[in-house]
Amino acid sequence: MTITATQAAGPLNVTVNEMVHLLPQTRQLRALHTVIRDRHADLGRFVTTSGRIIRQLIETALDLLPYEPVDVQTPVGETYHGLRPAKPICGVPVVRAGESMEHELRAVSPGVRIGKILIQRDKVTKLPRLYYSALPADIDRHSVLLLDPMLATGGTALAAVEVLLDHGVAEDDIVFVALLSAPEGIAAVHARHPNLRIVTSAIEERLNENAYMIPGIGDFGDRYFGTDVPR
Ligand code: URA
Repeated sequence: MTITATQAAGPLNVTVNEMVHLLPQTRQLRALHTVIRDRHADLGRFVTTSGRIIRQLIETALDLLPYEPVDVQTPVGETYHGLRPAKPICGVPVVRAGESMEHELRAVSPGVRIGKILIQRDKVTKLPRLYYSALPADIDRHSVLLLDPMLATGGTALAAVEVLLDHGVAEDDIVFVALLSAPEGIAAVHARHPNLRIVTSAIEERLNENAYMIPGIGDFGDRYFGTDVPR
């Protein structure tokens, strides 16, 4: 499946392949998106509804991780030939918006480790700059879910992936989880990291001149944390 975004420079094609896992576009998912994209959605509804989508993203991302066989005994004395994650899992939210996804990951997998990365765009250079990271020392032994709800230009995603690679995490041990993705962001990430898997619930049309996604959701962090109140 190829998604075409219109850019000033011409059309940009993004192929939804085995590296881009777009959630099934069910009517229910579309209804959830309708709630959170509505500019009049109140804070409670925004948090609850985006949480429901994020939960689906997390479940999908967990399914992409490696599993190994394990047998368990059932209460009726039989053997069930099951699976368990082959590696420990570490969630790494990009502060602040990514922290909205931490709660949903913890809810389904309470034993996961949680790292943090804070990257912000430098006001002068406009380039993403790493301000802070706190990661498990043995993160290179983990499957890593990199959590950021907005994959827009891809600048922050690329900087966050670099931090993980610098800590010894293999590219194919990282799954990037994003609620909304712009074709430009997906293309930027895959130009540099072709083996990085992305899980997303929507691929938007394009970015506007302020790097917001269109039709989009506005500033996700402000809406999720309620800091978008006009004075
Ligand atoms: N970050 C957001 O919060 N929204 C966008 O549309 C793009 C980046």
